[in-house]
Amino acid sequence: ALRDALAHDDFLVQYQPEFDVSSGHWVGAEALVRWRQPQGLMAAGEFIDIAEQSGLILPLGRYVLLQACRDACQWPERDPPLTLRVNVSAQQFDAPGLVDDVADALAICGLDPGRLCLEVTETTLMQDTRGALRTMERLKGVGVGLAVDDFGTGYSSLAYLKTFPIDAVKVDRSFIAGLPGERFDVALVTAIRELAQALEIDVVAEGVERTEQRDADRVRRLRRASAARSRR
Ligand code: MN
Repeated sequence: ALRDALAHDDFLVQYQPEFDVSSGHWVGAEALVRWRQPQGLMAAGEFIDIAEQSGLILPLGRYVLLQACRDACQWPERDPPLTLRVNVSAQQFDAPGLVDDVADALAICGLDPGRLCLEVTETTLMQDTRGALRTMERLKGVGVGLAVDDFGTGYSSLAYLKTFPIDAVKVDRSFIAGLPGERFDVALVTAIRELAQALEIDVVAEGVERTEQRDADRVRRLRRASAARSRR
């Protein structure tokens, strides 16, 4: 069915927006593929495993990349420009054609490479560190950004923050789910944020669905600022 769906163009790319916590401005979006079914849209999580097992992730990944680049060209102009994030699976990442596919998609759509950021998971990076580094350096050569997806859930080796040319980490939604109430989640997210900031890496929180989650960072900083004031 997946093979047929690819032949019949039965997929759709939707976008999860990204906002700057301090300004509230829309700063970009992540492309997420959906499968059109008679009963509605099927989320990627329900068919990505099968796409990977069957190798169909490669044509599917190419489709998503191209469609997302096309769509991003239609987004309003902003300063700084809106970032497009596209997920790259382990198989795509290891495939020899990835860098050319990325360069082609950008060229076909006329999208500035600096606006595209590819997301890879920690697991992908740990499989073949040297190969991953080579691929990342070639991608950096094309001018695209690189992000570590689902940060904190895989083999969270701090070494790769140093080894790989990473522009952003995406804090896994399981940690964001507990904000602002869960002490451990707050501690982990704060630590990741401060580490990334020190390394000049962007931090993106995945799965922010409630205003308290969105404001967790701001509230914490305000509290810290008022505590500092009261000590003075
Ligand atoms: Mn992602």
